[in-house]
Amino acid sequence: MAKIAVFNQKGGVGKTTTTLNVAALLARRGGDPLVLDLDPQGHLTGICGAAVAAPERSLYGFYSSGASLGGLIKFVDNLGWKIIPSHLDLSKVDTQFGRGHNVLNRLNSGIIRENLNTDRPILMDICPMLGVLSLNGIFAADRVLIPISADYLAVRGAAQMERTLRALEHVLKKRVERRYLLTRFDGRRKMSWDIDQQLRARYGAEVCETRIAENVSLAESPSFNRDVFGHAPASRGAQDYSALLDELERGRFLQ
Ligand code: ADP
Ligand code: MG
Repeated sequence: MAKIAVFNQKGGVGKTTTTLNVAALLARRGGDPLVLDLDPQGHLTGICGAAVAAPERSLYGFYSSGASLGGLIKFVDNLGWKIIPSHLDLSKVDTQFGRGHNVLNRLNSGIIRENLNTDRPILMDICPMLGVLSLNGIFAADRVLIPISADYLAVRGAAQMERTLRALEHVLKKRVERRYLLTRFDGRRKMSWDIDQQLRARYGAEVCETRIAENVSLAESPSFNRDVFGHAPASRGAQDYSALLDELERGRFLQ
């Protein structure tokens, strides 16, 4: 099934929020998503209560000592899905392992070797910096979901992402299927609508029809170690992510 990298070189745009809630809804709809936390900051790992003290028991163990990915999976009881946790030591991956093609393909090889996504989608929460770790995620992905926060740098951020993906496509020798997702949308602001219009004019059908509104339940739920569906199922945030999943399923983006 699909391997999706949730990526934007900008921080604070909703990558972790999107990974959390898409995984949550996939699980609630009977799927068995596996989430890889590829951000050394480990925010998603923290929200899941899946933090590990020993770096070897996180994704870092896969890079440092060749631990099997399967052996690093943790089931998150309160959320109902599985995660391979991050650890701050993952920030060392960028300096420790060089940049050869084998290194950049390492995660992809591991996922394929262990048949990790034969019958389940994989979601990867990617750190904002472009380095060995994030490139591992993008090389492993067959699709990229790019949250764009509806603030004044949004259009510039999208243009930067487009340049990055085009440069990578030369190396990967294929087009990376992508969807831009407008997040933190505030319909009362003219700026939000301007950004919406500019993104659609530039990227057309690659912009999700669904917009994720600025919503307090989305911001609050992580502090209760919950996704928005467990925290506030009737909230605007829950409705928006539900609509997003419907749209991605209709577009076969998750298959
Ligand atoms: P990233 O992973 O890209 O750095 P996050 O998902 O952590 O971004 O979001 C950054 C901050 O914005 C977090 O505090 C998060 O709770 C909040 N946030 C994200 N999306 C929304 C939204 N739609 N409405 C309100 N707050 C949001
Ligand atoms: Mg994040």
